[in-house]
Amino acid sequence: MTQAHCAFCDGPVGVESRETVEHFRPKSRFPELAYQWENLFPCCDMCQSKKLERFDPALLKPDEADYAFERYFVANYLTGKVEPLPGLDDTTKKRAEVTIAMYGLNIEARKIARIREWESYCRDAAPCLDDYSYRFFLA
Ligand SMILES: [Zn+2]
Repeated sequence: MTQAHCAFCDGPVGVESRETVEHFRPKSRFPELAYQWENLFPCCDMCQSKKLERFDPALLKPDEADYAFERYFVANYLTGKVEPLPGLDDTTKKRAEVTIAMYGLNIEARKIARIREWESYCRDAAPCLDDYSYRFFLA
C-alpha cells in the first residue's frame, strides 16, 4: 500500500531501514487496538525510535480520508525542512507541528536526505516518483 515507503516520513523501508509496524495508538496505552488494521502502519526505524510509545490526539493519521501532505505541509527545498502550510488555522497548524515533532521529520539527517533526493529527482530524465523516497517532498 505504501510501495515500501514509511507511512510517516515516506523514507525507504526494507533496504536502508528495517520494515517495522507502527502502532499509531501505542499498544501499551491502547491494548485493545494492538491488532486492529486501522492502527497499524508500515514504518521506518527512525520514525519508530522518535515516536516510541507517545501519542497525541492532534497527531495526523496518514490514512484519514481527507489527509493529503499538501493540505498540512509545505516543503522547503532550500533547507530540506517540512513546515506547516502557511495560513492554517491554529488547530490544524498544531496538528502539523505535533506530527513533525513526534516523528522527528525535521532532524538534520532527514533534511539532508530530502535535498539529495530532490537533486537526484531533478537530474533524472524520466523520473518515476515511486522509485524515490520522500515522494511528498518531490511532487
Ligand atoms: Zn519513517
